[in-house]
Amino acid sequence: MKCPHCGAVGESYVIDTAPDAQGGTRRRRECHCCGKRFNTVERPIVVTPLVVKSNGEREEFDRDKVIRGIRLACAKRPVSSAEINRLVERIETQVRALGQDEVPSRVVGDMVVQGIKELDPIAYIRYAIVYLGLDNLESVRAETDKLLHEQQQQREQRNTAVEP
Ligand SMILES: [Zn+2]
Repeated sequence: MKCPHCGAVGESYVIDTAPDAQGGTRRRRECHCCGKRFNTVERPIVVTPLVVKSNGEREEFDRDKVIRGIRLACAKRPVSSAEINRLVERIETQVRALGQDEVPSRVVGDMVVQGIKELDPIAYIRYAIVYLGLDNLESVRAETDKLLHEQQQQREQRNTAVEP
């Protein structure tokens, strides 16, 4: 840390440490060189990682684009915009929590597809057709069967959970 008084770079003594209002840490320091005091503040900065597309291009995490994609999949389905917004917020938080500078678009896409699955099964199939590239009826049926099977399993789990 460079002393703002004499410009000395290097060690300074920490005299006092206290939390600051924005969730950071405030330190009162004394310069080892000139003996004058100064304060430093250390704060966490949360950065949303860049999304790396399959062609190698990087782009900012685009909330609106994600929302548009989900809305399209949920058209005429009983899913409210509040639910969609909550999902996108959750995805953004998850992406940030990875703590990386860059994240492959596939990782974000998988979070979206997983989130839509929890919102609405029809919206999920619609989204999966595009996202997973299901280009024939057999693969759509396979995905639908998988979903039905998962729902069946969840029902069974719920049923066994309430039994004494
Ligand atoms: Zn100094």
